Amino acid sequence: MAAAQHTAYIGLGSNLADPVRQIEQALDELDELPLTRLTARSPLYCSRPLGPQDQPDFVNAVAGIVTRLSPLALLDQLQALEQRHRRVRQRHWGPRTLDLDLLLFADRHWVSARLTLPHPALLERAFVMIPLADIAPGLVLDGARAAQRAKGFDGSDLRPLTPPSR
Ligand code: ATP
Ligand code: CA
Ligand code: CA
Repeated sequence: MAAAQHTAYIGLGSNLADPVRQIEQALDELDELPLTRLTARSPLYCSRPLGPQDQPDFVNAVAGIVTRLSPLALLDQLQALEQRHRRVRQRHWGPRTLDLDLLLFADRHWVSARLTLPHPALLERAFVMIPLADIAPGLVLDGARAAQRAKGFDGSDLRPLTPPSR
């Protein structure tokens, strides 16, 4: 019997080596992952870096996928994709060519050394919640819809890179 299909959301970020190209290419590559189809791509946004400020601004987006992979198999695929973009891990929250965070996997809750679901900072980050609300406004997170949560950010630390489609 084939594995069940689940909806998942991926947060993308890049601030090195032509970040717009890195993100657009990564969105295409998500569609090519095994047992996986890209179903939604948010507009691109620009954000100030977390942590060390001596690095370029980030380009961010959120993708929606449907997948028959397990959460850990999907994480393996996302990390392999980061490696193909020549990501080098130096300091925590340092610059990177591509960061792929697994934000949500169906309604799974998971805590292990390699994977926490939902992503622990999901609700706190404008550069995640605003693009997530673009593609999944009705998604209920901890009792509030994504669209409602996105309105809770003042937006000053996130600017659209391409005009939103709404
Ligand atoms: P943050 O998670 O705060 O955004 P980061 O993206 O800079 O920080 P990374 O260095 O990319 O952190 O990842 C550190 C580790 O986090 C990875 O090796 C991965 O195993 C683990 N991890 C735990 N939960 C998740 C998740 N939901 N999505 C992606 N990686 C995760
Ligand atoms: Ca991250
Ligand atoms: Ca990450």
